[in-house]
Amino acid sequence: MKKDVVILGGGFAGRNACHALQHCGQSILLVDPSPVTTMLPSLPDVAGGWVPEQLVQRPLAEFLPPNATHLQTSAAGIDLDARTVHTPDRTIPYDYLLIAAGSVPNFYHSSFPRDRMHPLGSLDDARRIRRDFETYLQETKHPRLLVAGTGYTGLELAMSLFFRAKAAGKPCDVTIVDPSPILLPSLPDKQRQYVLDFLTGHGAEVRLGVAIESFDGRNASAGGRTYEDVFLCWAAGSEFAVPEIRGRVERLRDGRLKVAPDLSLPEYPNVFAAGDAAAIEQRGKVLRKAVNFAYYGGRRAGRNIARRLRGRPTRPFRPVDLGWVVPFHETSIGRLPGGLWVHGRLGVRMHYLMCGVRNYSLANFAGCLQLAWKPNQGEHT
Ligand SMILES: Cc1cc2nc3c(=O)[nH]c(=O)nc-3n(C[C@H](O)[C@H](O)[C@H](O)COP(=O)(O)OP(=O)(O)OC[C@H]3O[C@@H](n4cnc5c(N)ncnc54)[C@H](O)[C@@H]3O)c2cc1C
Repeated sequence: MKKDVVILGGGFAGRNACHALQHCGQSILLVDPSPVTTMLPSLPDVAGGWVPEQLVQRPLAEFLPPNATHLQTSAAGIDLDARTVHTPDRTIPYDYLLIAAGSVPNFYHSSFPRDRMHPLGSLDDARRIRRDFETYLQETKHPRLLVAGTGYTGLELAMSLFFRAKAAGKPCDVTIVDPSPILLPSLPDKQRQYVLDFLTGHGAEVRLGVAIESFDGRNASAGGRTYEDVFLCWAAGSEFAVPEIRGRVERLRDGRLKVAPDLSLPEYPNVFAAGDAAAIEQRGKVLRKAVNFAYYGGRRAGRNIARRLRGRPTRPFRPVDLGWVVPFHETSIGRLPGGLWVHGRLGVRMHYLMCGVRNYSLANFAGCLQLAWKPNQGEHT
């Protein structure tokens, strides 16, 4: 019997779910506004012009199994009781739904001019930063980069642009602010100090417990100081990507949906969530947003939908933490399985290797290997 299987989002989780469902005997509708699938961890490098953008994307259409169709639009809402997804111009009914639409930058309802804020959540954002930062460097006598958010995205982006300005012969001041009193709270003191020393060693000003109070598109104030003629990057957090969801769901503050061990929503066994859209608990803690959890979570959610279609019981998702590495252009901080810490160039190389392994084609993989061999060479358009 024909069933409507709908997947929202063709990122790491959604794509892998599609592949897990390729022999399920049903057609799959993949809803995603983007024509390409993107390697998000490389975006700070694309924004700084260190990695060519062809290397971090692949057209979704080339990548999907034959039973999946891509509908290029964005989900504006989900009504879980009515079993429908709403897009700007239609209502899509479903029997099984996977919510894998990732997350988007959170502007916290700020009234600052959006066209001057520069978030980094998509390839379009990275392209825009690249273009606008280049113009800004050309037009500004004393460039100053102001970054809101000391999470990994904010710090990576800050250093990528800092080194770009330096390479362009137009060194810029960097200020990074965050209302939180602690930098990278999940790190032990020694590792946190390592990151802080690297940033301040390059002249970056890191102001913790400080938020941006005003920004008129040119000048900003934060913690009682005024910063004139700034280039503002907004990396202050992310939120759930689908604007509205109706139904009996429990959510985290950032909108992530709490899921059962098999990644279904507790009140809706025909609906699953994976990747950045899902709040997955392991040993009492919610998993961080990361490629590997999205990759394997998407696969598990897809397999569980296939099992439901066959009338079989679902299986729990058992996440394995493969560690992480965050590159800050010249150096890095990371934690490998077994609790080993990694720093410096080695971590930068490992980051590019990871981007290669999780990339979408042999050509992209080869390009990432080259980057791992010789990181941060030259400039790409
Ligand atoms: C700048 C940056 C750097 C990062 N660095 C790292 C790193 O070094 N290591 C690491 O492990 N993780 C990193 N992450 C996190 C990692 O990229 C995410 O955890 C992962 O991509 C989540 O996968 P996903 O499939 O849930 O979502 P995504 O990969 O974000 O894919 C979501 C898809 O949904 C689509 N979509 C969005 N809104 C809608 C909508 N309303 N309706 C339908 N479709 C929609 C999008 O177009 C996209 O194709 C980084 C993230 C960012 C932004």
